[in-house]
Amino acid sequence: MIEKSKAAEESPAPEVDVDALIVGAGFAGLLALYKLRQAGFTVLALEASESIGGVWNWNRYPGARCDVESMQYSYSFSEELQQTWEWSERYATQPEILRYIEHVADRFDLNRHIQLNTRVVSATYQAHENAWQIQTNEGQEIRARFCIMATGCLSAARMPEFPGKEKFKGDILHTGHWPKSGYDFTGKNVAVIGTGSSGIQAIPMIAKTANSLTVLQRTATYSVPARNRMLDETEKRAWKENYAQLRETARYAPSGTLYEFGERKAEETPLQDQTDEFEKRWAKGGPGFLRAFSDISSSQIANKAAGDFIRAKIADIVKDPEKRSLLTPATTLPVGSKRICVDTGYFETFNRENVDLIDIRNDPIKGIEENGLSTKKRKLDLDCIVFATGFDVIVGSLMKIDIKGLAGRTLREKWKNGPGTYLGLMVAGFPNLFLVTGPGSPSVLTNMMVSIEQHIEWITACVESMRRQGNDYIDPDEAAESKWMDDANSLAETMPFLRANSWYMASPESGSSPRRFMLYSGGVGKYREICEQVAQQNYPGFNIGARHVVCDVPAELS
Ligand code: FAD
Ligand code: NAP
Repeated sequence: MIEKSKAAEESPAPEVDVDALIVGAGFAGLLALYKLRQAGFTVLALEASESIGGVWNWNRYPGARCDVESMQYSYSFSEELQQTWEWSERYATQPEILRYIEHVADRFDLNRHIQLNTRVVSATYQAHENAWQIQTNEGQEIRARFCIMATGCLSAARMPEFPGKEKFKGDILHTGHWPKSGYDFTGKNVAVIGTGSSGIQAIPMIAKTANSLTVLQRTATYSVPARNRMLDETEKRAWKENYAQLRETARYAPSGTLYEFGERKAEETPLQDQTDEFEKRWAKGGPGFLRAFSDISSSQIANKAAGDFIRAKIADIVKDPEKRSLLTPATTLPVGSKRICVDTGYFETFNRENVDLIDIRNDPIKGIEENGLSTKKRKLDLDCIVFATGFDVIVGSLMKIDIKGLAGRTLREKWKNGPGTYLGLMVAGFPNLFLVTGPGSPSVLTNMMVSIEQHIEWITACVESMRRQGNDYIDPDEAAESKWMDDANSLAETMPFLRANSWYMASPESGSSPRRFMLYSGGVGKYREICEQVAQQNYPGFNIGARHVVCDVPAELS
């Protein structure tokens, strides 16, 4: 599995098993393998699952598909790949995206560097060697110069603990951990808990075959129709003929996705024109709805106009007055303060006779029993409970690994009051450990393919530059890290995010004090420019050195 590249064979002191150990084999891990191998480093990826694909391997629930158009939710690193791969739908389904990932792994001969069924349980920085000692669930130990945490920001499924869950005789499923063999809902009495993007995609599909479906909703969600359809040859050709230029524009677009960006401000647009524009976007479908006007995220008036339009649409669609009222997001919840959901027939599903809705803020879940679930006011007989309750986000998969940096300090200890990184890419005190789409980066605010490619390109260029200069130690400055996180939080103050309770926030409830925004909201273009500038200026804010120079910690402590 571990192969030596030519560069490594020539290295005077090959003291590690592998130059770069990559944790995770989703979109990010695969690209890291490809890019670092191409740069001449020895590479190995460890993946907890029995299959590659990350999110698209774990989330096999019915209705799962992307919310960024397929032509944009794909790798851009290979012109040959993007010219030859044929997406069939505007928003590709999970099986199609997984086929694409498998195709990429085959095409670029990546599988031979991937060890499946292998969970990394600990990673310890050995200061005397400038190396990471990685331990797996099988007791395997690997020493690597660099460790790339491509562990995903939505990869640790969150299963809330309701009392009595273990007594349930039916089936319990989580959207983020769906059985590979699929699940047949035909004729079953089903409950779905959670109405985020996953719940909203799964609910219409489950309703089609279940005998009854009860949706347990905590917060009403903004959703816009996807208007998914087959892609026709003309539009695919238009993308492919202009891919180079379109991808480059996307790299600097606010969220890394190309939309028709409305240049007018809603605040300055007459009401009828506003409605016409929203109507046009609703008919077209997709998250481009939020790009109708340039001030939707910066002006509360504009934001409310967009929210009011969606509320009016829900009122038109949902026939039952009680369900309609429960499904309508509160006016105090800014639209876009959480990633907007993109659905196919979600609100329409509540017009079906076999679909019911419970507001669990008003009628909370008391517990799960042998044959179903009880809320304060109702008892449901169930064959199956689907948890669409999301993930331990952004840091969840990292926190599951026992990561020890300089002086044996753990990442859990360092982040106990909330996560901090410099540029979203590295953590002070954890040398040679790179994060992908972690806290402090644009991450889930964006088209993640664009963010992943930018991160992996930056990381690869960074370690190449270190090799050129004879360095193999890099660690960000505490001060640079604090400033970066403070600046990221300040940036978010002008956006709708801070006015909502969402998992974008590290909050006292999640152990963080003070409440802080976890991501960089200045846009992928601005972020890219900052990262490029740091690289061009030879990495200010980072301590970079040669092998063994930073050895102030006795080996036995590290
Ligand atoms: P992941 O795909 O999450 O891969 C991480 C891998 O690391 C996993 O395979 C996991 O098993 C492995 N791993 C974690 N911990 C360990 C460990 N300790 N040891 C070994 N292996 C480990 N983003 C968009 O931009 N557009 C979309 O349309 C979109 N749709 C989404 C739909 C769903 C259902 C979900 C959940 C997310 C979606 N996302 C979307 C966000 C998605 O997270 C990214 O687009 C992207 O797939 C992330 O890739 P990744 O490689 O960074 O992480
Ligand atoms: P999510 O957005 O976190 O939604 C989880 C849902 O479960 C919310 O409705 C939440 O309610 C509810 N919930 C959580 N804990 C609960 C509890 N203890 N009791 C009752 N309800 C509970 O998770 P997700 O839907 O899996 O989506 C996560 C992210 O993945 C998305 O934002 C998106 O980035 C990505 N995704 C994208 C797509 C796509 O369209 N391509 C599909 C799926 C996922 P509250 O709102 O009250 O917290």
